[in-house]
Amino acid sequence: SRAQAMEVTESPDVEYADIGGIDDQIREVREAVEDPLDDPEQFEAVGVEPPSGVLLHGPPGTGKTMLAKAVANESDATFIKMAGSELVRKFIGEGARLVRDLFELAAEREPAVIFIDEIDAVAAKRTDSKTSGDAEVQRTMMQLLSEMDGFDDRGEVRIMAATNRFDMLDEAILRPGRFDRLIEVPEPNAEGRERILEIHTQDMNVAADTDVGEVARELDGYSGADIASLATEAGMFAVRDGRTEVRQSDFEAAREKLQDAEQTEEQVIN
Ligand code: ATP
Repeated sequence: SRAQAMEVTESPDVEYADIGGIDDQIREVREAVEDPLDDPEQFEAVGVEPPSGVLLHGPPGTGKTMLAKAVANESDATFIKMAGSELVRKFIGEGARLVRDLFELAAEREPAVIFIDEIDAVAAKRTDSKTSGDAEVQRTMMQLLSEMDGFDDRGEVRIMAATNRFDMLDEAILRPGRFDRLIEVPEPNAEGRERILEIHTQDMNVAADTDVGEVARELDGYSGADIASLATEAGMFAVRDGRTEVRQSDFEAAREKLQDAEQTEEQVIN
């Protein structure tokens, strides 16, 4: 149903402090989304338009959804999430209809943050194939563009979207007045990984001699989501062992387990 396609939360339970390693991106999102919601008069007085849409792009599991939830929460705005894949519908006109509903709902619930995850599902570059499915996706995208073009008088609604496949996007959605503020959310570096690991172990009983920084240095290529799984796995090793403290060796065991799991996955794929 239409209601199920959208996730509406009055105050998502994510704060900026829960997000590690992307402080610059947090600052940019606050400027583009939170400031205009908090103080629209300031923008009017200066005579600048805040960005119409903010596009977060980067690899999976790096905190894009968290960022969108946190900025909605910290701006006291309703968070309305729609997955791009949900907009790809079987019946003619259904996707476009959902887009209309999305913007209507946001206007009713303002201040609101609309978040379209996996926007590439509806906004990929045109391909050569001329199947009717493609035409329908195209129509959904056109509806999205037209909603964004009519955005000026929408009051306190901000639009965000995310993608792991920036290179696939149709340039039409990046034009001024549409998704005109691009924010890259990269994989975390060693310092970022340490911060993320600290965040995900702050409620865990970690042995005092554990060097979280050393664990983090070993996690090259891990996303925030991978680090969250690692912390949980490490805790599980302590539980299985009947201990109440999580040790450095548990993090190492967890890392090996996740690596093995990944290798098995690759074998399955290949
Ligand atoms: P996708 O592109 O796959 O949707 P995403 O970038 O939106 O991923 P999130 O959904 O925000 O990623 O992150 C998934 C989970 O990974 C979070 O709930 C959190 O536990 C953890 N995580 C990811 N990035 C971070 C981060 N920067 N700081 C802390 N935790 C993180």
